Amino acid sequence: MTKKNAKIQWMFFVLMAVMLLLLSMPFEIFTNKISNEALESYLDKPEDISEVRIEQNAEVPTGSVTIVFKSDEAVKAYVPDVNELSMELSEKNIDFYMEDISRGGQVLGMVLPTVLSVVLVVFIISFLNMRAGAGQGGRNSGMLNFGKSRARLAVDNKLSFKDVSGLYEEKEELKEVVEFLKNPLKFRDMGARIPKGIILVGVPGTGKTLLAKAVAGEADVPFYSISGSDFVEMYVGVGAARVRDLFAEAKANAPCIIFIDEIDAVARRRGTGLGGSHDEREQTLNQLLVEMDGFTPNLGIIVMAATNRADILDPAILRPGRFDRKVTVGIPDVKARKEILELHAKNKPLGEDVDLLRIARTTAGFTGADLENLLNEAAIEAAAKGKEKIGREDIDSAFIKTGIGTEKKSKVISDRDKRITAYHETGHAILFHELEDVGPVHMISIIPTGEGAAGYTMPLPDKDDMMVTKGQLKHMMMAAMGGRIAEELVCEDITTGASQDIRQVTKIARAMVMQYGMSDKIGMINYDDNGDDVFLGYDIAHSRSYGDEILTLIDEEIRALVDDCYRNAKEIILAHRDVLEKSCRLLLEKERLTGDEFNKLFE
Ligand code: ADP
Ligand code: MG
Ligand code: ZN
Repeated sequence: MTKKNAKIQWMFFVLMAVMLLLLSMPFEIFTNKISNEALESYLDKPEDISEVRIEQNAEVPTGSVTIVFKSDEAVKAYVPDVNELSMELSEKNIDFYMEDISRGGQVLGMVLPTVLSVVLVVFIISFLNMRAGAGQGGRNSGMLNFGKSRARLAVDNKLSFKDVSGLYEEKEELKEVVEFLKNPLKFRDMGARIPKGIILVGVPGTGKTLLAKAVAGEADVPFYSISGSDFVEMYVGVGAARVRDLFAEAKANAPCIIFIDEIDAVARRRGTGLGGSHDEREQTLNQLLVEMDGFTPNLGIIVMAATNRADILDPAILRPGRFDRKVTVGIPDVKARKEILELHAKNKPLGEDVDLLRIARTTAGFTGADLENLLNEAAIEAAAKGKEKIGREDIDSAFIKTGIGTEKKSKVISDRDKRITAYHETGHAILFHELEDVGPVHMISIIPTGEGAAGYTMPLPDKDDMMVTKGQLKHMMMAAMGGRIAEELVCEDITTGASQDIRQVTKIARAMVMQYGMSDKIGMINYDDNGDDVFLGYDIAHSRSYGDEILTLIDEEIRALVDDCYRNAKEIILAHRDVLEKSCRLLLEKERLTGDEFNKLFE
């Protein structure tokens, strides 16, 4: 919750408190006060009276009387002498009862109205303050601006496609959008229908925001950006109001781009999940759909949205006339990674020993944001050391920092732990070296990383294959087992250090059997349909759809696969026991071995 929300909520709370107080106020406030003469006249008609209540403070003779009539009306009078009144009532045969009002009750009766008015005044003052604040702080800072869109207009957006490296197909797909925004009329005259909505799908950091902004920059049109989470507020209806406001503003400034980041925050599949601010999201989403249906296609507004989870989006938003164009923004391949590195290295002095292609090759799986971060960390490292250029070792240590965690040489580790780690990592490394579908080894280290790993073995993938084969998966499992196998062979006992490896082995084996149809006994059936685990409700409805028999079979197949890999991996390591010993010795001495140093041990 934002600060502003908290404040508004506080005000509502006060308002509620005031209302409660009003309701629980002493009855008297709403009762007609009458004079003693009037009282006498009422007492002369006892047939109209349903109840008489006398209130008296025992310490003084005075008090008050309340008469409730059969018509449910009531009057109240102050009486100078309660005793006299009670005698009179007895004479007239009117039933009554006496209440001894305590001092506390009386005090409360006097204090309450005061407290109430103070609270009201405070409330009004704070309300006025907020309105004044709204005037100073620009839009959105006051209560009355609640339903205003929070879209930020990017001022001076000079980005162009040149600032986006790689992503060739993506840029190609968006070129016509740029053309359209530059000249909507041309397209209208041609009778062409340009998509109103384009959804960019990709993992965080792949450059979705960058790309959308570059489209606006290329076309030289305003860029309104808003995040899906800005729509999701505490109070129902606010999100919808913001959407309405956003589109009104965009229409006034067309041609332009509206960019909705994290659209999954509003556009999740409806009717799934349990609890949460559901109504609000649905209303916001509905308003978004209404607005998108509402403007004519060639008005010159393009709505771009970004998400990393296209699978959880409500199908309604993907219908024609809405976000009917999907552009997948992929993780960069080697070539693109090199270009991204070159782009971000432009303003950084690099030493002669820095080879961007080599860095690109070692960073499979890195996104554009990761790569930018890598170079930035290297620059910080170099600057901190007082160097004039970024050297190879700066990149290397930035690599470890961003990829695996901070190198911590200072932390004292026992010799025993070091030895075990050295064997463990060498076990991985031998398999990376020997198996052709994984590796070769890029680096082995027994320097603990900031994230709890005692060491690491880093392979240098030769290729960026899209498809993964069964053989490759087996090799990956074997390489992951190498650490534990080495420990078993050489050390007196085994350690907990292999838990991460074991998890990975299990994950691969499960996927092979349950998802990829790579087990003959199971065949091509997907038994692992957990894609939607964000939605508790969805999952509950789709829990295990197979029997115990199948479950046993799956278990057996996974086990067989793991055992098979284990046996083969162990054989390979046994055949290279000499390397295991030599590498361990060398690692203990130097703490870190390069791929070349390690490969020499096999000669
Ligand atoms: P996303 O929106 O997909 O999470 P961003 O667009 O915010 O990713 O990217 C974050 C940063 O990473 C960008 O500002 C840019 O510096 C860098 N970056 C990401 N992808 C690229 C790319 N293809 N080319 C150049 N820089 C990139
Ligand atoms: Mg982004
Ligand atoms: Zn390991």
